[in-house]
Amino acid sequence: MAERRIFNEKEAVLRAICRDVEHFDSHLAELLDDMHQTLDKAQGVGLAANQIGIRKRVFVLHNEDKRLEFVNPKITKAQGEVIDTEGCLSCPGLFGKVKRPEEIEIVAQDRIGKEFKLVMKGLDARIACHETDHLVGKLFKDIAFDLEQKA
Ligand SMILES: [Zn+2]
Repeated sequence: MAERRIFNEKEAVLRAICRDVEHFDSHLAELLDDMHQTLDKAQGVGLAANQIGIRKRVFVLHNEDKRLEFVNPKITKAQGEVIDTEGCLSCPGLFGKVKRPEEIEIVAQDRIGKEFKLVMKGLDARIACHETDHLVGKLFKDIAFDLEQKA
């Protein structure tokens, strides 16, 4: 396992459309392990593969004791609206308010290719939406209001 560099918003890979993962092999497992380690080190709540320079549809989520990983994620349902403050490891010090669904249903695969479906609410849903946006080259600041750059 290795910690990887987190790319910033000015680097082109943050605007890349990521590709579906087709091979559920040791490279994918290593990528996921590295993403967990990188996210732990950064003390963040979510990390998309293109934030470490890899154009693949993969993200990880850490919220309290939860450590989840999503390969080829698709949000299949969304309901409700919540406005809350967001930041991003690729936009250091930048915060803004973003409207997100209150609850989502997400379909994805795990690291061995098994499909699963999850209903997520609150912060989990917010993180999943933020990270799936990354995978199509979208940043929270594109849709945020009251943006504020802090130290
Ligand atoms: Zn982000």
